[in-house]
Amino acid sequence: MNKLLADLVAIPGPCGFEHQMIRYLYNRMLPIADECRIDGIGNLIVTKKGAYDGPSLIVSAHTDEVGFIVKKIEPNGLIRFEKLGGHDDRILLSEPVIVHTEQGALPGVIGTISCHMLKIDNPELVRKFSELYIDVGAADADEVAQMGIRVGDPITWATPYREMGANRAYGHGFDDKCGCAVLVKALEELDFSKVHGTVYGVFSVQEEVGLRGAKVAGQQLDADVALAVDTTAVSDTFEAMMDDTLELGRGPGVKVMDFSLTASLAVRKKLESVARSYGIPYQLEVFAGIGTDAGELHMAKSGIPSSVISVPSRYAHSSVETIDLRDFYYSKELLKAFIMEMRTKEEFSFLYNM
Ligand SMILES: [Zn+2]
Repeated sequence: MNKLLADLVAIPGPCGFEHQMIRYLYNRMLPIADECRIDGIGNLIVTKKGAYDGPSLIVSAHTDEVGFIVKKIEPNGLIRFEKLGGHDDRILLSEPVIVHTEQGALPGVIGTISCHMLKIDNPELVRKFSELYIDVGAADADEVAQMGIRVGDPITWATPYREMGANRAYGHGFDDKCGCAVLVKALEELDFSKVHGTVYGVFSVQEEVGLRGAKVAGQQLDADVALAVDTTAVSDTFEAMMDDTLELGRGPGVKVMDFSLTASLAVRKKLESVARSYGIPYQLEVFAGIGTDAGELHMAKSGIPSSVISVPSRYAHSSVETIDLRDFYYSKELLKAFIMEMRTKEEFSFLYNM
């Protein structure tokens, strides 16, 4: 599954430009799916039916990653850009990027002033992204055009997947290629002749710009319960606001609340009980700084009881997102255990066991 994550990191999917991700996942899921279809906004919906009656479960993982988009090509060949998704302007400088043109992928760098210039600059200044530029190695605007770069071309971070230390890996777009890999592997590995109910695997689009794909998916599926599988930001480093409530290597997060969702108590307790009975470590996640596809899914139609399996991640949305591969593995095991143990839609109803 680590190999699959590395493969997905190499496939670009900036928000609204998930075509290569969706094509790859469609081709991969088609042989094992009961149905595989792509809706109007671009979500890939993979249906897998269990042998027994039971609840219908949506599992959503988003195929988009944060990136940028070409806004303007300046006369000297430098490129102005707009953001796709959330970025911290302080960490953009001197980062390698890839510009995705119709003719192929081209390398570039986000420019910065040399440290030799600091004496004549204000060292406190954080430049806004709108003041920055991407250098693709062109001498002027004509050369940029000859390279095939046009306004509207999407841009991603360039960092490949790399393993470091005994159990960890870094790369760009782990949010949410980790979730996509978890969902692919769970659907491939599970024995559906033992499953009660139906699973709709939703590989959603445009999560990072407002949960847009999930909103469309939730409206068209009849589901009794929903899970998102996504990364979440840990708080286990030294900065002042870090409180060690979520740490790398302590297992997947089971969502209690974030800004988009208060998790269904029944779904959250089911995740906890299957984790305990399968010996899967987990951490309860209370973090108001993040939202996921479940934020839309739980409000779809007449309301779908929802929670989230979170892969803990450091440096979220940067070019060097870092995970513990054991958390990643256990996230898949927790999803599989949940699917194996679901029995009836009643067990996810609001007053179940209350
Ligand atoms: Zn995400």
